Amino acid sequence: MSGVTLDEQVRQVVQTGRCTGCGACTLLDEGLAMRLSEEGYLRPERVGASTAAPHAAREFGRACPGRIVRAQRPQGSAYHPVLGPVAGCWEAAATDPTTRHRGSSGGVLTALSAWLVESGEAVRAVGASADTDEPRRTVPVTIQSRDEALNAAGSRYAPVAVASHPRALDPDGVTVGKPCEAAALRSLAGEEPAPLIMSFFCAGTPSALATDAMLDQLGVGADETVDALWYRGRGWPGRFTAQTGGREVSASYDESWGGTLGPTVQWRCKICPDGIGESSDITAGDFWRSDERGYPVFTETDGFSALIARTPRGLDVVRRAIAAGVIEVREISADEVAGVQPLQRNRRSTLAGRLLGARLAGARLPRYRGFGLVRLAVSRARDSVRTARGTFRRVRGGAAHRS
Ligand SMILES: Cc1cc2nc3c(=O)[nH]c(=O)nc-3n(C[C@H](O)[C@H](O)[C@H](O)COP(=O)(O)OP(=O)(O)OC[C@H]3O[C@@H](n4cnc5c(N)ncnc54)[C@H](O)[C@@H]3O)c2cc1C
Ligand code: SF4
Repeated sequence: MSGVTLDEQVRQVVQTGRCTGCGACTLLDEGLAMRLSEEGYLRPERVGASTAAPHAAREFGRACPGRIVRAQRPQGSAYHPVLGPVAGCWEAAATDPTTRHRGSSGGVLTALSAWLVESGEAVRAVGASADTDEPRRTVPVTIQSRDEALNAAGSRYAPVAVASHPRALDPDGVTVGKPCEAAALRSLAGEEPAPLIMSFFCAGTPSALATDAMLDQLGVGADETVDALWYRGRGWPGRFTAQTGGREVSASYDESWGGTLGPTVQWRCKICPDGIGESSDITAGDFWRSDERGYPVFTETDGFSALIARTPRGLDVVRRAIAAGVIEVREISADEVAGVQPLQRNRRSTLAGRLLGARLAGARLPRYRGFGLVRLAVSRARDSVRTARGTFRRVRGGAAHRS
């Protein structure tokens, strides 16, 4: 790839369906900005003259998760085949009931962000929140107080490019982002000091058009003003909810994520080796209660997060947050977490099959290093072969999202 310009590299990643929409490339060139594509996914576009440094194309090749993702092996962590590096693992919840209620699961990421900025340990946190002008859409935001952290609480199942925020890489802050954003920021930082990176388990980014479809199903017209919109939280798992002109409409997590949002997850997320935030310092996920078959039960209750410290820095922050009474925890094993995350478990252990099927059908794929995908696939040989065949057919037939 040496000699290929940044623009050309970005174009190739986008055109071959490998772009996650993380936005990290816009940090390398202010003339690039993230824009919604016709299909409703965020993609980098040239909007102004290039400000790229001479080494920008090389940095892109190292950091863009559409090009390469490397599994991390931080000092002091053990590598779990499904959950990645683990230095500490807990069931956790915010001790403050409001924060716990507003969060997606236990409100742990919000509690940590609020504590770190209010104590002055971090200058700011960068996260994602509803666009104040148009809550149908999600934007990266900075958080400098508990109230701002509460406003940004809860998962948003829609495109937002947190790694495009100009402060996302500042070493005096905290950045909360999807696993691909964590990976891109970690790679961009390289040996330089990085922000504290927090991430969460992620099944992928749905199209922004799916949010519009949800509103349509709930009887909110395209021309109506939406005052507030959230996807989860305010309960566990919480409901997709929109407020418009004094009226509130909502749908269950199962109806919204399962029925409308989840099915539009972009192609790149379906071939992701890291739905679990391996490159972060701290990761949170849902610590679902499960039924007798091991599948999550979505009955509304007080939320619990699975919390994983991945690096010595992350472990130190979690331990101090426990001592300060910011979060309450119960130590658990990584196997217990993997046990209540069937999607992450199945996806990772059959991913090699999916990649093979896609490759044989002619798809161009990112390079993945150090994830042990082949070893996992061997342990699920029959499922992997079935996945390879199915993916081959879907990619050949053009049924996979390639945008
Ligand atoms: C796209 C997506 C897919 C997910 N898939 C899974 C899954 O497969 N399994 C699972 O267990 N959980 C999944 N989650 C939920 C996630 O794991 C929970 O947010 C996690 O349990 C953390 O809970 P919490 O209560 O500690 O977080 P909270 O306290 O609610 O904090 C959430 C933090 O994430 C930030 N954020 C919200 N949405 C986004 C976004 N789209 N992009 C970047 N940052 C964002 C917020 O700004 C906030 O800082 C997903 C969330 C998202 C957004
Ligand atoms: S994956 Fe991220 S860094 Fe790569 S092209 Fe897409 S937005 Fe840019």
